[in-house]
Amino acid sequence: MKIRTIIIILLILIVLSLIMLYRRRLHTRLPEGCDRFLLVIAHPDDEVIFFRPTMSILQSEGKEVYILCLTEGDHEGLGIIRTEELYESAATFGIPRSRVEIKQYRDGRQEVWDLEAVKRDVSSFSREHDIQAIITFDDYGVTGHINHVSCYEAVRDLKGEQIGLSLMSRSVWIKGLGPLSVFVHDPSADYVLSSENVTKSWRHMKVHESQFVWYRKLLILISRYSYVNAYKTIT
Ligand SMILES: [Zn+2]
Repeated sequence: MKIRTIIIILLILIVLSLIMLYRRRLHTRLPEGCDRFLLVIAHPDDEVIFFRPTMSILQSEGKEVYILCLTEGDHEGLGIIRTEELYESAATFGIPRSRVEIKQYRDGRQEVWDLEAVKRDVSSFSREHDIQAIITFDDYGVTGHINHVSCYEAVRDLKGEQIGLSLMSRSVWIKGLGPLSVFVHDPSADYVLSSENVTKSWRHMKVHESQFVWYRKLLILISRYSYVNAYKTIT
């Protein structure tokens, strides 16, 4: 098959997938009766790289959204800059600074957190703001990052009234399908939130200036998580 034919087929598939994403977004289903959502993340920029479709939908649905970020993202000594970037990023989603809390657990792939302490932090933040649904990573944390997994473990072990939703990790091939990942079925997902507008991910990620290097620019374009967030209910 000629290269030109392959490119044309690919372009047709991308256009089709964007149409499907748009239609899916119009028929978004969120957990019933939930108006206050808490996003528990490990690092400033997780809210864009992994959860942007969700954040945009919650914003457009007028939900009250809170962010609890468990590290300052200080792995490279940029904690002060990155915390400011997170506040700014939250503002672009319509979330005021008062609804963002940043903890100081250690950032790094080798850092094992005190899970009991994390649980207490998530639980007290959640109770203080009367949270109804908590969104976080799943037991693989999309990338396998131990800090992401710890977020999941803390939310999983909460004994609260809230609904817990974990972002489903997928294989590296599916993660890199970009908009085409809309063709990948998520049979075990309880909720699927989609977005066809990758320029929004780009704009939100730009706020994280210290992290917006070439490979993250590429990631934003080709990552499934810029287009599709599939969730399982944490039971
Ligand atoms: Zn992260």
